[in-house]
Amino acid sequence: MSIVASEILSRMNERRVLEYIQRHGPKSRPEIVRGSGLSSPTVSKATDALIGEGLLEEAAPNPEAFGRPAKTLRLSSRTTNVLGVVIDAGVCTVDRAGFDGLRQEDAAHQFPTADGYEALLEEIQSRVEQIRRADPQSTFRGIGVSVPGLLNLKTGQIETSPNLHLLDGQNLQSDLQARLGLRCIVLQESHALCLGERFCGPAHDIDDFVLLDMSTGLGMGVVSNGQLLTGSSGLAGEIGHITINTQGIRCGCGNVGCLETVATDTAFVRRSAEALGRQIDLRDALKLYRDENPLVRTAAAETSEWMAIAMSSTINIFNPSQLVIHSQLLHVDSDLYQKTIASACKRSLRASFRDCRVHLSVADKRRGAIAGIIQHLTDCWAPSVAQLKHSVVGRSRFSPSEDGND
Ligand SMILES: [Zn+2]
Repeated sequence: MSIVASEILSRMNERRVLEYIQRHGPKSRPEIVRGSGLSSPTVSKATDALIGEGLLEEAAPNPEAFGRPAKTLRLSSRTTNVLGVVIDAGVCTVDRAGFDGLRQEDAAHQFPTADGYEALLEEIQSRVEQIRRADPQSTFRGIGVSVPGLLNLKTGQIETSPNLHLLDGQNLQSDLQARLGLRCIVLQESHALCLGERFCGPAHDIDDFVLLDMSTGLGMGVVSNGQLLTGSSGLAGEIGHITINTQGIRCGCGNVGCLETVATDTAFVRRSAEALGRQIDLRDALKLYRDENPLVRTAAAETSEWMAIAMSSTINIFNPSQLVIHSQLLHVDSDLYQKTIASACKRSLRASFRDCRVHLSVADKRRGAIAGIIQHLTDCWAPSVAQLKHSVVGRSRFSPSEDGND
């Protein structure tokens, strides 16, 4: 076996160990051997390499356990750090987390979204530098960014962001990397939510599921065979821009009658405002819903019917084992949620719906941005078997010392 081939094989074994702990939590070496199917010497070599790179940490055995308990290995919580940024139309956040994905709440920054692109970059840079200055001993491996809009993975540009046009045509990844000297990965927000669910939700052990984001816009993240489906240029899953009414209202994408205009929390607010004859925001609309305002209840019922159509279309197209729903409207009332599920069931192919578990999301974009950079660093460590099979990535190396650490 050539040196290069044996090096790739070692890396892939290390990745299997890393993924095993990402999926199952802290484990001892014997447990990893039993669960991963790797030999004891291979696990020992892989864990030594991952500890050396600061991606795994050894935890002391529990002194109260019977016998001679083995040391537990867990994902690094302090040695290796990542940053997560969420850019939204009104508010942005910058979070710090360990390689285990746990956010350090005392390091979180939240600030109003600037009204220009350069000012937005300045603000993010300033917050990131504050976090790094506060802990100069720590290593930061990279930064994940969740953005609204259509992100082209071939060019790195945001094609258009219907709800935040200051991002249109910008290459946020290269601009932030240049300013921060940190590896940066930008994710379309529905894809970020999808990865967040994979890391911390009920879908964490599932290789085929779909997340349907029906909040501000209507987006979708699809995990198939354990991989996020991106399409040829990262634009896969834009179910929101399917025309459902040729005479409908104009969508942020420029077309008219898109599904996004009728099947989102935003559509619920618009219908409620039209019925009430005054401007309101989502918080107002949800409060009026809880107060049983009949006009707002009617707006919610109409919106939820279109949400059911979006759900049944997704189930029919992808036949997922789980469908994860992200919507504040459907979170507000379990009766409304159950009615929406019943309608989606009626509109779906019976066999596809029967095989699909539908549930509300537990992740948010902040977790998604952090999950995105951890997934990227894992992919850079070594390709997964599925990636090799589909030739999604070429040989990629990640060395912490290359990444502008403090
Ligand atoms: Zn559209």
